[in-house]
Amino acid sequence: MKTSDLGNANIGVLIICLMIFNFFSCLTSKKAVPLTQKNNKIDTLAILEAIEKLDTANVPRYIIRINVHFFGSANGNFYRGEREDLTVHNGVSYAHRFVNHANWVMSDLKESPLSPANFLGHSRIHYTLYTNNHPLDTFGGIWFSDTWNESKRYYQDSVLHISFMDTGEPGDFHISGYACGLTFCNDLTLLDAYDNAKNNGPFGWWAFAGSLNHEFGHILGLCHSFYCDNECNGIDIDVNKECRINPCHNSCGGPHGGRCDNWPSGSRNIMGYNADGTALTPCQWKRIMKNLLYTNALYVEKIWPTQTRLD
Ligand SMILES: [Zn+2]
Repeated sequence: MKTSDLGNANIGVLIICLMIFNFFSCLTSKKAVPLTQKNNKIDTLAILEAIEKLDTANVPRYIIRINVHFFGSANGNFYRGEREDLTVHNGVSYAHRFVNHANWVMSDLKESPLSPANFLGHSRIHYTLYTNNHPLDTFGGIWFSDTWNESKRYYQDSVLHISFMDTGEPGDFHISGYACGLTFCNDLTLLDAYDNAKNNGPFGWWAFAGSLNHEFGHILGLCHSFYCDNECNGIDIDVNKECRINPCHNSCGGPHGGRCDNWPSGSRNIMGYNADGTALTPCQWKRIMKNLLYTNALYVEKIWPTQTRLD
């Protein structure tokens, strides 16, 4: 499924509780014990209950292993610089700033004025550039290729591949992207970051970090906030407000058209089209937490929660 985004607007830590420790610790007052994976079984029901109650301390954390690929075009390509070189079209420093910004957003979700309810605080999702020190992995999960056919995907399904490509003309300053689907596939593409970086356009790494969160939202199973049949419509999303002038748009991931106009609606929902995608509703968050709990995607590392209790 191709999803065009932000509009072409010119714009398991398995903590083994050793039995001997368990035995002696019964004499103590308080200790950390695993909520999940007791006797190697995951207490799925307890986690589902925690998700439902927004009890984030007892919800797993998810590390999303990523690789970034920069592809050349007629417009040029990011260059292979030192990480300390902060020139904006140095791909190495750009990739790190891009990932850091996406993590900053996901670590502190905020309110959207159009949502009846908002999930606030840490999303429990964190991206990390993945490397296992493959001899050709010079930049730690950051790759440069002149063409798609030369693409280096040594880590295959172990990572979420994020591809940066340019289309159009230098100076047209688009920002857009698309995801491979809704069910934990591992490809997403972001368009025109190089043009914006090299030619001083308005959309820097921070804007493309927003696009990453949006596209990964699709891969986690979310539709656009302005989609008529949005999974959370009537719960804590109002698609009529998201569309501003209505009617809502009848496609989960397609670019809106006709009279639905999310861009100037004031929405800050990550799954809308806006420059400030910093919000998810509780319903959206619960949905992605449940999908992450059940996924077997190799690029999703699960950190199981612990719970402090009296024994
Ligand atoms: Zn989208």
